Amino acid sequence: MKLQTFSIVAGSSACNARCPFCISKMTPLNGITPKLPDINLRNFRKAALLAKQLGAYTAMITGKGEPTMYPDQISSYLGALEEFEFPLVELQTNGILLYEQKEKYQEYLKKWFDSGLTTIAVSIVHYDAEKNRENYLPYKKQYIDLPELIRSLHSIGYCVRLACILADGYIDDVNKLEHLIAFAKQHKVEQLTLRPVNRPEQSKDVAAADWFEHHFLKPEQKKQFEQFFSQKGHPLMRFEYGAAIYDINGQNVCFTNSLTLDADRDIRQLIFFPEGRVRYDWQYEGAVML
Ligand code: SF4
Repeated sequence: MKLQTFSIVAGSSACNARCPFCISKMTPLNGITPKLPDINLRNFRKAALLAKQLGAYTAMITGKGEPTMYPDQISSYLGALEEFEFPLVELQTNGILLYEQKEKYQEYLKKWFDSGLTTIAVSIVHYDAEKNRENYLPYKKQYIDLPELIRSLHSIGYCVRLACILADGYIDDVNKLEHLIAFAKQHKVEQLTLRPVNRPEQSKDVAAADWFEHHFLKPEQKKQFEQFFSQKGHPLMRFEYGAAIYDINGQNVCFTNSLTLDADRDIRQLIFFPEGRVRYDWQYEGAVML
């Protein structure tokens, strides 16, 4: 069995963004509540060891809400991870607090870098700030200055990934995709990941599932993207779950999906939940390892 990622659920179910497609709301909370849980360190060590033994080389701190709302917990996770020496340690975030409270978070980011954090993956839906505001911060007048955030993460030494959800009305055609790739290149973003918006078979959130029904990429739109990659991209890596990484004019671009489970293939990730549960899928509550 060859595992790709050891995912670590940080924070609570609270989030400072309002994405209408929130996948966290659509999948089971699996014990995550608005209250910050304590970390079951005994099971965390077992899970990290298991992930290493199954071949994972990436540990990713993510959440069912926004993990950076609880920076001290991220510090605790990074401290506990150190002994396992995962070469790649990533933090998935919407980036809002990292920019809006720069002074406070700059100190954390420097400390996390010294604890082995390598990559900050910032979720976006567009290169256009207004489109990102409309999606993430509809209750505010302005989205963050994304280029400035990228610059400040680079200045500490981080590798930056922009993780873009593809949806109808946002990045939904090749022209916009080319703009997004040019935006990533212009700001020296090391990795750009594209993932069509998705929903679990059984959504826990009616509004989010409804939004998906109005904004998912149609087969002809996906086909356009696939043609674009086969014509303009130089393939660098292909993964058995369907993702591929391309070089497009010197920009690293990964076209992937949200599939975490395929019973006919090896599991793709182990997911550690703070109370000590270790799962291997977000959507099926029966996918429990420990
Ligand atoms: S940033 Fe993530 S957790 Fe927060 S609302 Fe958006 S999808 Fe949901």
